Amino acid sequence: MNFNFDKDNEEIVLRAEEFFATEMLPRHREWVETVCHDRKPPLFIKDIQEKAKGLGLWNLALPELAKDEPGTRLSNLAFAPIAEILGRLPWGSMAFNCHAPEVPNMAMLQALATPDQKEKWLNPLLNAETRSSFAMTEPDVASSDATNIRTRIEVDGDELVLNGRKWFATGGAHPECSFLIVMGVTDPEAGRTAQHSMVIVPIGTPGLTLVRELRFMGWADFVAPIGEFRLENVRVPATNLLGVRGQGFKGAQVRLGPARIHHAMRCIGMAEMVLAQMVARAHERKTFGRSIVEYDTVQKWIAEARIDIDLNRLFIQKAAWMLDNSPDKNTWRVVSQVKVSTPRMLQKVTDRAVQLFGAMGGTDDTLIHHAHTYARWFRIGDGPDEVHLRQIFKTEPVPEWTIADCPYIAPPGF
Ligand SMILES: Cc1cc2nc3c(=O)[nH]c(=O)nc-3n(C[C@H](O)[C@H](O)[C@H](O)COP(=O)(O)OP(=O)(O)OC[C@H]3O[C@@H](n4cnc5c(N)ncnc54)[C@H](O)[C@@H]3O)c2cc1C
Repeated sequence: MNFNFDKDNEEIVLRAEEFFATEMLPRHREWVETVCHDRKPPLFIKDIQEKAKGLGLWNLALPELAKDEPGTRLSNLAFAPIAEILGRLPWGSMAFNCHAPEVPNMAMLQALATPDQKEKWLNPLLNAETRSSFAMTEPDVASSDATNIRTRIEVDGDELVLNGRKWFATGGAHPECSFLIVMGVTDPEAGRTAQHSMVIVPIGTPGLTLVRELRFMGWADFVAPIGEFRLENVRVPATNLLGVRGQGFKGAQVRLGPARIHHAMRCIGMAEMVLAQMVARAHERKTFGRSIVEYDTVQKWIAEARIDIDLNRLFIQKAAWMLDNSPDKNTWRVVSQVKVSTPRMLQKVTDRAVQLFGAMGGTDDTLIHHAHTYARWFRIGDGPDEVHLRQIFKTEPVPEWTIADCPYIAPPGF
């Protein structure tokens, strides 16, 4: 395993760091003020995106398949430090068109779409001219077992007719979202994993209603507002089927590996930001005649956060390297390990940050609440902890030796 970057990759990280310092961080207050007051995406995002594109900092997270597509595709390992830099700010990943849910949706379209579908739905995403959403989860069924999904997709002549309910469709409530990728049942008589298919449903299709925008633990996702949808006799052309009929789950796998690891990379950026804020605050405030930073508890929190962040970064690098180098079943185990470990780390770091900041830690006046809620949702979204833990457990081999083979002190009659 080799975590070293070549010269080109090092240069791109430096460029991203410079761009963050000069173009992004100075505009963060403007972003906050705009989204908090009128909820529209700030216009300067387009301006920043143009600059980033001009510098080749564009679509860096596209998969290997995308070699001939626009953008500067990096390996997962080389993308890790970039995702970390962008993850420091809630909107950071948008600057380079490397945000969710667009990246996993683009990956899926690149892998599965027909040339016509690519032209109509993928190219505008590659150029950040539109937004999209992936609608699998349903309020009426336990969606961590995706085979429960029951939205019905029926064929009627050369049309598909959809009926059902969807929620937690990230980005679906964004004013610029132009289509959903909907998972539903096309073949109810087939085996459990061969019943579902994916269909592209344009926003504005009659029968498709955005019921509400959801908040998660009071947290509004300003970057990709979360939608709940009702689908009542929604008709789309049969050519909107994405991928092979009955192979919806297989198709959706394309988005899951990179999506999970990219979220984990962003978590590292958030944790670094929160840790820096903890250190600054601890130096700034005094209680009972001493600076807060002088208390052992606070020093321990800071030191442990540093250990936890660095360990998780290494773990992500390992998973990224494995994804880049002939992924096998061990790779998916390590991706699951990262998926469980990183948000837990971020949750622990941010919980201590809330404590250290006192009342302010629970407000939106810092990035702590955002990072804390991100950690919390990531322990549920893209597969809850328990589902991944079950997978990890299944890969743990039962040893061939017995416990009696390994005493420390030889028992009588040994
Ligand atoms: C902020 C946010 C954004 C999201 N974005 C999207 C999106 O863009 N598109 C989309 O389709 N979905 C999205 N989701 C939904 C997410 O993927 C689902 O919430 C998740 O799959 C869990 O499904 P569920 O909520 O129905 O929980 P359930 O399936 O009801 O599961 C509830 C709990 O049961 C337990 N459990 C389940 N299975 C097992 C098991 N095998 N062993 C032990 N315990 C188990 C777990 O503790 C789990 O948390 C998002 C969710 C959040 C919070």
